Amino acid sequence: MPKHILIVGGGIVGLCTAYYANQRGHRVTVVERGPATHDGCSFGNAGLVVPSHFIPLAAPGAIRTALKWMASPESPFYVKPRLDMELFSWGWKFNRAATATHVARSAPLLRDLHMASLDAFEELARERDDFGLVENGMLILCSTEHALAEETRTAAMARELGMPAEVLDAGSIGDLEPGLRMTIAGGTFYPKDAFVEPARLMASMTRRLAERGVDFMWETKVTGWRAGRDRIEAVRTSRGELAGDEYVVSGGSWSPAVVRDLGLSLPIQGGKGYSLTIPRPRHNARHGIILAEARVAVTPMGESIRFGGTMEIAGLDERINPARVRGIVKAVPKYFPDFSAEDFRDVPPWCGLRPCSPDGLPYAGRFRRYENLSAATGHAMMGMSLAPVTGKLLADVLSDTPSRFDLTMLSPDRYA
Ligand SMILES: Cc1cc2nc3c(=O)[nH]c(=O)nc-3n(C[C@H](O)[C@H](O)[C@H](O)COP(=O)(O)OP(=O)(O)OC[C@H]3O[C@@H](n4cnc5c(N)ncnc54)[C@H](O)[C@@H]3O)c2cc1C
Repeated sequence: MPKHILIVGGGIVGLCTAYYANQRGHRVTVVERGPATHDGCSFGNAGLVVPSHFIPLAAPGAIRTALKWMASPESPFYVKPRLDMELFSWGWKFNRAATATHVARSAPLLRDLHMASLDAFEELARERDDFGLVENGMLILCSTEHALAEETRTAAMARELGMPAEVLDAGSIGDLEPGLRMTIAGGTFYPKDAFVEPARLMASMTRRLAERGVDFMWETKVTGWRAGRDRIEAVRTSRGELAGDEYVVSGGSWSPAVVRDLGLSLPIQGGKGYSLTIPRPRHNARHGIILAEARVAVTPMGESIRFGGTMEIAGLDERINPARVRGIVKAVPKYFPDFSAEDFRDVPPWCGLRPCSPDGLPYAGRFRRYENLSAATGHAMMGMSLAPVTGKLLADVLSDTPSRFDLTMLSPDRYA
């Protein structure tokens, strides 16, 4: 039976959820606190679609590496020290999740979710090819033998999971990227990976939704809820109450605040990342690339090239930290000697907050406490890649149809 579904948050996850819910015959309203031209996390990211990312952020060694990086202001990771119970609790949960058992359980699920998302991207591109989907694989470049050995182990794990992954020497990588001079020890290649242009994807999804009659309430902030014993009756917004049959929280890093007055716990920390887009670089890449040691993603986008990286856990602070941006600018010439700080001189940095769950898995599904409230958030650095499959999963949940995925590991109640 068709329902009226209210979606809180118009980032890529909210829009994909709206798209697939509408496709299933539901009436959908997206409530977004920003204007139609907002520029949040879903716009300036690297746009990589990454079946290769089957290892969650919470993995063995993650804390050790993070502590090592904490000492340098230009390193790829930083936690701003602050007295915040939510941060302590998140860190404790992250530490508990960072085990080999968790990785072994999560990897097949993440692989399947990314692959289903890739299929969905292909469907969307067949319908209308207007968001720059390029399916030519992704390279991970290593400047040291140590990183190459680590990436070689990850590639072996990928193959065990049935995912093609090749280990390449510097010469073979040069053949794949003839326009870029590189100083690298070697790298790995994931032929199934792809990339999109995030802002074009956001514009395309917004357009498709408007054409299908989905309502948008821009500049409308959700401020609270009216709830009965086990159902949400309405959502309170800066423009008054809105009532629907089902409610989906896809507020990105702000999702915990959105559900707080319902007494629900949805642990998420904003992981601030930066990107720099050079409009017409002297050299460009053909593939999506990750610079392994620097944790910088490189994506060709039309005539431009985007460099994105850094994970800064600093609350909901959206200010630019110049030292972190410098970290990205300094890393690039170490791999691509034809680039220098001069190439970035007039490039304005962008930043966005990745919604990071403690175990590195998204939240997708209904809350137990309220029968008509669901979450679709917490995708950290995989939100672009996983948005379409998340939308499909939520459309199943909202239509009361069984999912082909086991949603237990994605339950928004797993930390309740
Ligand atoms: C530098 C960088 C590079 C990245 N690269 C990649 C990549 O290559 N591949 C990939 O898959 N992912 C990547 N990501 C991650 C990806 O960008 C995020 O996972 C994704 O954008 C999250 O989407 P979202 O819809 O969950 O959240 P958001 O895009 O943050 O959207 C949430 C929306 O909710 C709205 N909202 C919040 N509170 C309220 C409220 N109270 N009322 C109404 N509206 C509200 C916000 O305004 C916002 O628009 C990258 C991120 C960064 C920062």
